[in-house]
Amino acid sequence: GDARICLNCPTSADSNIAIIYDSDLMSILSILLKKLWKTICTYKEKLRSNNDVSGDLDIGFAYAYQNLLRKFPNENFITALMHLDGVGLCTRFFCLGIVLNDEIVKLKVLAVTGDSPALKIALDFIAHNGYYCCYFCYLRGIHQGGKRQYPYQCPHVMRTPGNFARDSSTAAQLKSNEKGHLGVSICSEILDIKLPYSIIIDYAHASLLRHSKSMFVEIYRRLSPVIRATIDIALSQQPFPHFFHRRMKSFKDLSFIKATEIRNILFYGFLPIFHQHLQHDYLGHFALYICAMRLFHGRAILGPRTSDIANDLIMKYYHDFNSFYDGLENFVLHLHSHYQSQYRMYGTFSHLGSFGQESYRLYRFQPNRYYAPR
Ligand SMILES: [Zn+2]
Ligand SMILES: [Zn+2]
Repeated sequence: GDARICLNCPTSADSNIAIIYDSDLMSILSILLKKLWKTICTYKEKLRSNNDVSGDLDIGFAYAYQNLLRKFPNENFITALMHLDGVGLCTRFFCLGIVLNDEIVKLKVLAVTGDSPALKIALDFIAHNGYYCCYFCYLRGIHQGGKRQYPYQCPHVMRTPGNFARDSSTAAQLKSNEKGHLGVSICSEILDIKLPYSIIIDYAHASLLRHSKSMFVEIYRRLSPVIRATIDIALSQQPFPHFFHRRMKSFKDLSFIKATEIRNILFYGFLPIFHQHLQHDYLGHFALYICAMRLFHGRAILGPRTSDIANDLIMKYYHDFNSFYDGLENFVLHLHSHYQSQYRMYGTFSHLGSFGQESYRLYRFQPNRYYAPR
């Protein structure tokens, strides 16, 4: 089939390949943990000393996980992210933990993640076209041209864990909409970090499948048919290293495009090709977005100020957005104003979930995704 393995790539090592079954999560986890125990223990030492040798700012080096380590200094635990469109929750595991080498390893749930429809359900929130639909802040929004829009606004009034808990129980008691809450989240009991700090935006969904894709469609629509054809040819001919596994899609048909394909175009295809064809002010404006996402995605190439710079770029992009486009200031665009705090809490976005599942046949994971016991 298509699942070719390159023996020169580090991902071809046995310990980096696992096939995910749809069945018994508990026994899979236990096999995985046994298989990776040594790696986990080594990585655990790095996490405990907060020694990020690679500089990748993996999730374990960011604030949320480091805070858990301080909070439970004597507990043997691994952590999980709840990904809502992934495998079902195994509650037995959450309660009992897992016995490994005669030790009980507990599971801490660091955060919940998913696309906005999934998060709406998990958090018992109103839909993302309603007033106060943001789980992080008291964003009201306006009604404009038949759509709910969220124009640039800064600063935001943030929801605190106290407010979040109070508003959600008021909503549950009165069976009413309380600042966007419809009730108490089913996750609130399981999570080891308080809501809303334990929510991770699914960036592959919000930024790639939603925002970038609508921007591609919008920008493409404004070009002449001749230029569109030229761009489509250039995209399909762009060479890539073989480990990308995919070629770039043409803009003609974006309906079945995958998040990773959008990421490839956004990071590697858009600027080199579009700078020859797009008006420079539009190009410059969208370049703010591309550079910001590139900085949030990968290692901290600009040092400790990387996320500050990314945030400045994204907020400038958002600030000027309505001079270029109409009707696209939606909730997913608003979510980008919370990316800097997401990055501080959980590290670079390439580590957060969805990108592990890039390949449809094999699930390639880095051993360091499975966090170490203390
Ligand atoms: Zn290779
Ligand atoms: Zn918000």
